[in-house]
Amino acid sequence: MVMDRSKDAVRENNVDYMTDERKMIQEVARDFTMKEVLPVANALDPVQGEIPMDLRRKMGEMGYFGIRIPEQYGGMGLGVFEYCLIAEELSRGWMSVASIIARSTGVMAVEGWPLEKRLELTSKAAKGEYLAAVSLSEPGAGSDLASVSCRAVLDGDEWVITGNKYWCTFADGADYISVLCRVEGDPDQPHLGLRSFIIEKPRGELPNGCKGSPIPKIGYFGWKTFELAFDECRIPRTNIVGADGSDGFKSTVNGLEVARAHTAARAIGLARGALEDAIAYSQERVQFKQPISDFQETRFKIARMATEIEAARQLMYHVATQLDNQQRLDKEAAMVKWFASEMAERVTSDALQIFGGAGYTKLHAIERYWRDARLTKIFEGTSEIQLRIVSDRILGKPTNRQK
Ligand SMILES: Cc1cc2nc3c(=O)[nH]c(=O)nc-3n(C[C@H](O)[C@H](O)[C@H](O)COP(=O)(O)OP(=O)(O)OC[C@H]3O[C@@H](n4cnc5c(N)ncnc54)[C@H](O)[C@@H]3O)c2cc1C
Repeated sequence: MVMDRSKDAVRENNVDYMTDERKMIQEVARDFTMKEVLPVANALDPVQGEIPMDLRRKMGEMGYFGIRIPEQYGGMGLGVFEYCLIAEELSRGWMSVASIIARSTGVMAVEGWPLEKRLELTSKAAKGEYLAAVSLSEPGAGSDLASVSCRAVLDGDEWVITGNKYWCTFADGADYISVLCRVEGDPDQPHLGLRSFIIEKPRGELPNGCKGSPIPKIGYFGWKTFELAFDECRIPRTNIVGADGSDGFKSTVNGLEVARAHTAARAIGLARGALEDAIAYSQERVQFKQPISDFQETRFKIARMATEIEAARQLMYHVATQLDNQQRLDKEAAMVKWFASEMAERVTSDALQIFGGAGYTKLHAIERYWRDARLTKIFEGTSEIQLRIVSDRILGKPTNRQK
């Protein structure tokens, strides 16, 4: 058999992911980022400011909160691929802006609520007017989410939530907090006793029965990240995710596949921002009477950075395409999250190096890309947890670890 290696044959096999529509989506998002996001980030990140409501409103008008929400519910009706495409662009400006677009899905799964309520809130969410904070982690439960201890107890028509949570980003600014709680405790299968609950609250405040304070983090500015203490926080019995709430842990873990592709997109956006800034700086900065971009070490560094970014991007395109085809692929989602975030730390660090001393100041955005890239190796599952998932799929679980 003669293989047809023509360009068209390659395109028909979907190797080229970028349709004209996607190129346009990418260009529009890039333009929006450079005009609306980057200047705001450069002004507010150094003073640990928050994403302004005006920018959130503009993002809502662009449809960025509703990328994956079906058109009939007010969204754009697009897939994981476009979601990642836009997230990469927004992250090139400010990672927290690329993150907040992930806070608009979830209410359809609250099956105890009437359909009209769920549809109304989903269409508000598509405009960025009904957004979530997600509270999974606890002081004693990070990577090991099955060990969550914050409890929810049914009391008549209400759930009563008591316990401590940690690392809840956007707890104050969100319209509701999605909280992972324990309702039962089988020591042999701790993950089965978990459920997700929705705590509605006024924007700008913490819920009744919940106190908290911001954690002094070193980056990811644009919103605050809280430690929370729930003390008999009461919510209606219907505010539970799933028909009978039976899929608390499973739905959390399944959702992580898209979240990991989205985190890869954010990491790639940060790395690309750092690369583009480093290229521009290297062509302006003169030493030994020549631009530093003439030195072979700088040139090769830039070549390596660009290659690493492209490799991560192509893996992300593959994973996003498979997720859009409804494939379960926890191994590949873990691979791209690990690969892109490790890449982003290396590339942003190399970019900072190209800036020399100027890179180690707050006068250029490069330090922000570097700080934020560091976080992509930690949240949505650490690098080590991604490698654990990948190696478990390749080798099977170690014999001394049953679950
Ligand atoms: C700025 C920021 C914002 C965040 N926002 C949110 C949020 O909005 N909502 C939320 O729920 N959480 C959030 N998180 C929490 C984040 O998801 C956790 O930090 C992350 O899952 C890791 O948990 P941990 O910090 O407890 O680390 P640990 O789980 O204590 O891990 C410590 C170290 O041990 C390693 N380790 C742990 N288990 C294993 C293992 N089995 N094999 C090998 N190594 C292992 C880890 O990789 C890591 O290096 C946020 C975190 C940060 C820093």
